Amino acid sequence: MKSVLARRWIAEGVGLALILVGFVGFAAYRNTVAITESAERVQQTYQILNRLTELYAEMAIAESARRGYILLNNNRELERYYESVERIAHQLQQIDQDMDATPIQRLRVQELETLIQQRLDLLDESVLLYQTNSANSQTQIAITEKSILLRERIQSSLAEIRYREEQRLASSIQQANTDIRRKIAIELFAILFSFTLVASICIILYRQQTQRQKYKALEWMLAQEKELSELKLRFFSMVSHEFRTPLSVILASSQLLQEILEEVVDEAKLKNLHRIQSSARLMHQLLMDILTLSRAEAGKLECHPVLVDVESFCLNLVEDIQSGCASNHMIKFISQGYCVRVRFDEKLMYCALSNLLLNAIKYSPDATDITLTLIGQPHETIFQITDQGMGIAIEDQAQIFTPFYRGQNVGEIFGSGLGLAVVQKCLELHQGSISVESEVERGTKFTVRIPTP
Ligand code: ADP
Repeated sequence: MKSVLARRWIAEGVGLALILVGFVGFAAYRNTVAITESAERVQQTYQILNRLTELYAEMAIAESARRGYILLNNNRELERYYESVERIAHQLQQIDQDMDATPIQRLRVQELETLIQQRLDLLDESVLLYQTNSANSQTQIAITEKSILLRERIQSSLAEIRYREEQRLASSIQQANTDIRRKIAIELFAILFSFTLVASICIILYRQQTQRQKYKALEWMLAQEKELSELKLRFFSMVSHEFRTPLSVILASSQLLQEILEEVVDEAKLKNLHRIQSSARLMHQLLMDILTLSRAEAGKLECHPVLVDVESFCLNLVEDIQSGCASNHMIKFISQGYCVRVRFDEKLMYCALSNLLLNAIKYSPDATDITLTLIGQPHETIFQITDQGMGIAIEDQAQIFTPFYRGQNVGEIFGSGLGLAVVQKCLELHQGSISVESEVERGTKFTVRIPTP
């Protein structure tokens, strides 16, 4: 589920990134176009300004060549005059072409052209007059005065055009600067965003990879554990099978021996025989406990509930334990409430309750009473095993259900620490529970509950 979410996140992230990269690319393209246009405008304005300066200089050259011709009557000066007039016409044409101006600026240029044309006409008139009548200096002076007036008007018109062009140049440069700054900001944003996105995707992929590795390691561990518990089960099944047969032979033979010897020797001399019997029984119980626990751990402990007459079941159990044990404890059975037939697995419940009763006998002094109380309730059946034995210290009570854990006060009493773990496993299969109340040197009460549907 988590990995599906992460994959969706990556796909959405990449989609968003593509949209943003497209957007940023488009914005960057538009900005580049704007910058190029601004640069072209700047270059064009510079060109116009240069042409205006050259035009003014050319006008001065034409004027000086005319004067040189009239004053010195030098044909070389006349040529220079005509060449200059030609260049002026060409420059005016160029200015006209280059001028990408507002209507007002265009009007100004037209006005300038008219003024220049008027001045050139005057200069031509002056040259012609000189060629027809070189002594008419009076008219020449009048023409020169007019030309000076026109020159001043041309000057102010040029200044006006130049001023407007310079203004345009300043605004173009400003616009270009703004475009460049915007371009830098967009590129910076694109770099930062791409970096963040790539970093996030890398982090997600890395996490996914680590998680996958963790899952794999976990799966491998689980498989190992399963294999190990199956191996353990096979081993314990084999061991218990191999041990049970000789143990049964020992028990049966010692029972037989006891029956034969009971008639010829007195009871005190049968003590060692009883020891053999109880040791064989303990060993048998230990094997059974190990086998049950291994089965439970491997998930192979089976539970087959059937309807059982619970009172008869308890009476049989008490009788079995009482007759099987050599001690002189008295096991009382009390039945409370209404309980006739209850559904449970007979073998598993027998194993659990017998373990608790045997513990009660084992951890209680001789000749003390042990009670098995059966309480029938509408939704559960309760079994209570009470003794007046050594009790369990408070700090041990929470741990006694852990396999191999034994109370601090058990002393020399034999045990493996497996019995209560087995009891718990048997009850788990019935969705039941077990609890303990105990006081050191006063006694212990175990309460077993199994739900009755
Ligand atoms: P074992 O009896 O083989 O040690 P169990 O799992 O049956 O293992 O019990 C675990 C521990 O719980 C015992 O070692 C003992 O300390 C304590 N215990 C169990 N039942 C009793 C009882 N009836 N009275 C006192 N202590 C008990």
